[in-house]
Amino acid sequence: MGLLQGKFAIITGAASKNGLGKATAKLFAEQGATVAILDLDEQAAKTAAADIGAQHVGLACDVTDKDSCYTAVRTLIEIWGQIDILVNNAGITQPLKIMDIEPKNYDAVLDVNLRGTLYMTQAVTPQMREQKIGSIVNISSVSAQRGGGIFGGPHYSAAKAGVLGLTKASARELAPDNVRVNAVCPGFIATDITGGLLTPEMLESIVAGIPMARAGEAKDVAGCCLFLASDLAAYVTGSEVDVNGGSLI
Ligand code: NAD
Repeated sequence: MGLLQGKFAIITGAASKNGLGKATAKLFAEQGATVAILDLDEQAAKTAAADIGAQHVGLACDVTDKDSCYTAVRTLIEIWGQIDILVNNAGITQPLKIMDIEPKNYDAVLDVNLRGTLYMTQAVTPQMREQKIGSIVNISSVSAQRGGGIFGGPHYSAAKAGVLGLTKASARELAPDNVRVNAVCPGFIATDITGGLLTPEMLESIVAGIPMARAGEAKDVAGCCLFLASDLAAYVTGSEVDVNGGSLI
């Protein structure tokens, strides 16, 4: 029996073909969960869901829009009757220096990474509280812990640090209802978000600074999300787990 047999899981930003969300959706499905992939483009979300199996659901959702989050979650509760797991994975980054960050850059990055995490948490909380069980996994970043240094500007580091604060505060508030909230901090993981930003020379110099001497893979992050989402982590809440090949040692 899979670790997530009988569980219903929402993963935001999981339509990206080589992304962390899609790898997590695939692993959750392999472990018995029914998964909903939420992303900006409805067709991309549906295609990604169909890729992992016919029973999975793809829905359009813009996590920066509270109504959009609530509508998606309401739709899923109508279909499934329960929500056991939420992975707040949707994220964007911009490789800007501090003096180049315009208000529109700040808003875009904070809105998707931080506001979106809050809105989706708010959307699932009443259902998880009522069930008296739930696991929320928020994707932060090593950039929050070491002040960037790999990719993404200071506004990205600030947004992902905000995600850590939100994780701990919501973990504290929701713990009495057995709703757990944890954060995963990926280091450098080879996906479309990173591939588009780096030259081969930059890639080489990043890998040279990683004790395990390789970039992470999306499945490395997915495995950590699986642990936190599953009952193996039944007494784990408010934690931040590093998946970074030793980058902070
Ligand atoms: P990705 O670009 O492959 O996927 C991000 C997904 O988020 C895309 O499918 C995109 O359409 C979706 N998205 C963007 N804005 C959205 C919105 N408003 N509403 C809903 N969906 C939206 O990126 P990835 O590398 O798979 O990153 C996934 C998460 O991991 C992000 O939060 C990212 O910040 C974080 N992260 C990635 C790395 C890395 O090295 N790749 C490292 C640390 C943290």
